[in-house]
Amino acid sequence: MAQMQAWLTAELPNEGCGLLAGNGRQVRHVLALPNAERSPQRFRAEAKAQVAAMLELDRNGWELLGVFHSHPASPAQPSETDQLQAYYPAAVSIIFGQPANGGGWEAQAFRLQAGSSRPVQLQLTNDSVASA
Ligand SMILES: [Zn+2]
Repeated sequence: MAQMQAWLTAELPNEGCGLLAGNGRQVRHVLALPNAERSPQRFRAEAKAQVAAMLELDRNGWELLGVFHSHPASPAQPSETDQLQAYYPAAVSIIFGQPANGGGWEAQAFRLQAGSSRPVQLQLTNDSVASA
């Protein structure tokens, strides 16, 4: 969580994004990706960086377990675009947004599928995130 938040904070005021890799249900690696849109309202991972990240997963035998991105100025809820552009429906989507009362990132996890979203519970352990 700290790695993701640090990356997303560094990307402000724009949306930030990245991939989560591991095995089974345990996330072990955060792969931060540059936002090619450089926009506070949209994100699209830079193609080269995304390909490099996927190759790194393959090389290490990791699975793509999650994708994450930020909403720098809105709540941690999937937008219509997020639901329509859910390219990895098997992966959990973690959205970092701004809570109504301010005070830093708030994370929510979802399974996104074309046009719909379902909340997912995350379990935080000392050094990893597991999806339930
Ligand atoms: Zn979004």
